[in-house]
Amino acid sequence: MAFDAVIEVRSVSKRFGGLLAVNQCSLEVERGSITGLIGPNGAGKSTLFNMVAGNFPPSSGEIIFDGQDITGLKPHELFKLGMLRTFQIAHEFSNMTALENLMMVPGDQPGESLTTLWFQPKKAATREAEVRQKALDVIDFLKLGHVKNELAGNLSGGQKKLLELGRTMMVDAKIVLLDEVAAGVNKTLLNDLAANIERMNKELGYTFFVIEHDMDLIARLCDPVIVMAQGEVIAKGNMDELRANPMIVEAYFGG
Ligand code: ADP
Ligand code: MG
Repeated sequence: MAFDAVIEVRSVSKRFGGLLAVNQCSLEVERGSITGLIGPNGAGKSTLFNMVAGNFPPSSGEIIFDGQDITGLKPHELFKLGMLRTFQIAHEFSNMTALENLMMVPGDQPGESLTTLWFQPKKAATREAEVRQKALDVIDFLKLGHVKNELAGNLSGGQKKLLELGRTMMVDAKIVLLDEVAAGVNKTLLNDLAANIERMNKELGYTFFVIEHDMDLIARLCDPVIVMAQGEVIAKGNMDELRANPMIVEAYFGG
């Protein structure tokens, strides 16, 4: 089958004053893959991610999402197109239950703002019942049923991460961007998180693009893995191939 890219980064650069943080990077994320992005500190990973996610535009180059040029589009516009990024549960959401947190995620039906629904109470009630059911399905999938009525602020670190992942499942995401999702999560919970990412990928068909420092997690989840160093993409392969490549070992694993 032909390569089916969800994201294509074409010759993208980003300059911060005199610093070329990302230098003519090209890469692709294949539909259905869990693609990893690794590299030493300062390699340009977050800068590249921020451009893909619409946090700021590239200095030059193009970013294509599902065949559409999205260069310069803002995060909320990308959200509508189906590109989601996990975020830490904001402080103001910590006083809502896990279930309510999921129900807060905007629905996927364009044009149905709360105001228009407000004038159609019956439709609004149906919509709320649908959203609640979807939230319950997500809770079920992530095996969070026992804490669904707990305040999000009282959940463990790992449960919060699962809830963050759950929020991406409330809309029909074409791709989920994960930025250092393992940071601060203990090994057992990390295992849980990884298992759920795998299930979302295999059972539900989600595509993931992942920046991660935890090499065990990258090795377990990601194929392919793209390596950046000094603002450039220097290699792509599975983790075994990369670990066997002397140039990568030198540039990244420190020889
Ligand atoms: P990584 O995520 O791989 O560690 P970054 O993308 O965060 O790398 O950073 C790449 C380079 O760009 C670094 O030298 C960093 O200091 C610089 N940089 C990142 N963001 C900014 C910014 N907003 N302004 C100026 N320099 C930045
Ligand atoms: Mg970074």
